[in-house]
This record gives sequence, C-alpha cells and structure tokens, in this order.
Amino acid sequence: RGGKPEPVIQFTQPGNMTRIYAIASGKGGVGKSTVTANLAAAMAQDGLKVGVLDADIFGFSIPGMLGVQGQPTRLDDMLLPPIAHEVKAVSIGMFVPEGQPVVWRGPMLHRAIEQFLADVFWGDLDVLLLDLPPGTGDIAISVAQLLPHAEILVVTTPQAAAAGVAERAGAIATQTSQSVVGVVENMAWLEQADGSRLEVFGSGGGATVAGRLSQVLGTDVPLLGQIPLDITAREAGDAGTPVVVSDPESPAASALRDVARRL
Ligand code: ADP
Repeated sequence: RGGKPEPVIQFTQPGNMTRIYAIASGKGGVGKSTVTANLAAAMAQDGLKVGVLDADIFGFSIPGMLGVQGQPTRLDDMLLPPIAHEVKAVSIGMFVPEGQPVVWRGPMLHRAIEQFLADVFWGDLDVLLLDLPPGTGDIAISVAQLLPHAEILVVTTPQAAAAGVAERAGAIATQTSQSVVGVVENMAWLEQADGSRLEVFGSGGGATVAGRLSQVLGTDVPLLGQIPLDITAREAGDAGTPVVVSDPESPAASALRDVARRL
C-alpha cells in the first residue's frame, strides 16, 4: 500500500453491531443473487438499515436486480452508496463500462472487496449482506479474512448435484472458522393450477445440505426456508424490483420474507 495506513473496516471495529451474512452457493444459477436482493429488501421493509455488497465480481447482478441506478458518489475520501428499495448497494457493476468483462486475479479481487468495505460510507447498518460468487474461490477466502465474523448462508436447489456442491461452499466455514447460519432451498417446486406441487428440480436438496453441514460443523445448521419457483420472482428480478416489493403476497415473496425474519 506504499506507506498508506491500513484501511479501516467499520464492521470489524470494537462495538460494531452490524450482523453480516455472506450468501454462498456451490454453483451459479441457483438464485443466490435473487435471494440476496429479496432478503435485503424484506429486511428494509421491516425497518432495518440494510447494505448489500455485491462480491460476485465476475458475475455481478445486484445492480440489475435491485434496480440501482448510477454510481456511488464521492464525499471526501469516501464513496456514498446508491440506495434502492431502502437498501444501500455497492457493486463492481457500478464501476465497469457496460458489457466490459472484469479480468482480475486474486490480489485485485481482494483489494476490491477491501475497498468496498473500507472506502464506502455505509453508515450505521443493522445488517450487511454479501452476495458471494458461486463456489469456494479467492473471494470467499478474502471475505472470510476481512470479515471473520460474517456468517454464511447457503443457497441450493433441491437437486442432488446442486446440493453436493452447495455443501462444499458451506463446509469452507470449517477452514475459515466462520459459522453457517442456515440453508435456503430455492426453486423448491412450481405450484400447479390445481394446487399441486411440481418438483421440477427434485426434492430434498436443502434438507440434505443442512443435515450434512450440521454433521461436518458439529452444530445445528437449520433449513431456513424453501422458496418456490415463481414467474413473478423472475420477472421482478429482471425489472429491478425484488418480488417482496413488487408482489408481496406471492408465494415466493412470502417464503423469502419468512427467511429474512429468521435471520
Ligand atoms: P445466482 O445468483 O445463483 O447465479 P440468480 O439469482 O441470478 O442466481 O438466478 C438465476 C435466474 O433464476 C434468474 O433469472 C432469476 O430471476 C431466476 N430465479 C431465481 N430464483 C427464482 C425463483 N424462486 N423463481 C423463479 N425464478 C427464479
């Protein structure tokens, strides 16, 4: 850092009360970012002060899903995060020109996460959610180093193959001494016109991951909720208004809100 003072991360200072959840998944496409955006919006609806750090540097999707417009604004040495749906959000997507890929190696990724934590004026937050990249790569390790008390929330689908890799994403906690707050099973079923449930991706993945992580970590890791497949949830994400805001009565919104309240 060329003689510069060590960056100060407010969340690791003595007395800081912000709860931190790092949302993890074994692979992409299981709805990790959808869950992150909705948990954030649902917590904000409940009156909590919420921030989201999009740590999915290569596959960022938080700006789109939260409908965040524009860039953080500069204030002295700090960056003020944009706010959408009462949620403060920062993402690498706010800094790279549209359509441009982010091609960084480990050390730059680490620095980016560190800057998002230290140089952003988050203010007084009740909860900070981090949308991790899928898998167990550099960024998950950086987050564990920079925020050792961040708790991991694992998102999986019901599918056995997805559950296997999700378990590894959670089991990283044994090496980083973090705790796993629970598991969310997304895309659990699709409700049919007659009220029956079509289990598009099979069943049991969430319970399996929770059970296996409980074993591996030697503590109770609960299945915090099952979120149904719901076209309104996908449309809401595409439109930049999380489904808990756009269609709060939908089954997906209600399941997501229940998870937010269990955290
Ligand atoms: P990840 O962050 O794990 O890569 P995303 O949150 O981007 O996954 O979700 C992948 C796609 O699936 C997105 O198009 C999203 O809108 C959609 N999706 C996620 N969860 C649901 C759900 N419960 N019902 C319908 N579509 C969903």
